[in-house]
Amino acid sequence: MGSAAAMARTAPQRALIFLGPPGAGKGTQARLIAERYGVPHLSTGDMFRDHVRRDTELGRRARPIMERGELVPDEIVLGMVEERIARPDCRMGFVLDGFPRTLAQAEALDRLLEAHGFGRPVVLHLVADEALLLRRLAGRRTCKLCGAVYNIYDRPPQVPGRCDLDGGELVERPDDREEVVRQRLASYHRQTRPLVDYYRARGVLVDVDGTADIEAVSRQVVALVERAAAS
Ligand code: AMP
Ligand code: ZN
Repeated sequence: MGSAAAMARTAPQRALIFLGPPGAGKGTQARLIAERYGVPHLSTGDMFRDHVRRDTELGRRARPIMERGELVPDEIVLGMVEERIARPDCRMGFVLDGFPRTLAQAEALDRLLEAHGFGRPVVLHLVADEALLLRRLAGRRTCKLCGAVYNIYDRPPQVPGRCDLDGGELVERPDDREEVVRQRLASYHRQTRPLVDYYRARGVLVDVDGTADIEAVSRQVVALVERAAAS
């Protein structure tokens, strides 16, 4: 087991893409696999929240859109992602979480991957039913310091309201309010869901059962990534 696990940790030199509705577990799984391979975890949602926190010009543009649960315009997202992927730490591969979310973003990403010498991406499609998504989003709490994600129902922290890793305050995302969640799910179905067909038609998409617990989903993800990277 030891040597197999060690071998498995070689970075796959691929772009791994997590696709799925809000609450499917993209952030949690992306974080775990990025850690396993020692490659960057690129969450466009986290990047936007960081801009909002720092009150940058980009943050001021994105904030009202995020508060409504709508998608930030492609050109804003693309500029941000393009700059990030060009950095040297992405050379061994990277994990995308929450990007691409529109067909235009997926097409732009294809061009970026080609330009940076990456082959076909591996797209992990996390599948979960809506009742589970709603429950996960309603219970989600995030550490203010490190971004670790908890769930007050399914994965509570050891001390209520505090991060197990660093004691940081656990807060609710403003866009996890129920009305906003409905809009985010609608945006997903209208704008992002077509990417499932886009990537499936290219033969690069695998379905992952996102309803299982975190460790079980992670085991599926690792096995699928290793199979895909070897092919
Ligand atoms: P997330 O953390 O991935 O759920 O993203 C939070 C919010 O950031 C989304 O509801 C969108 O408003 C915005 N956002 C994040 N990623 C993208 C993207 N790729 N395209 C457009 N908007 C995005
Ligand atoms: Zn923390």
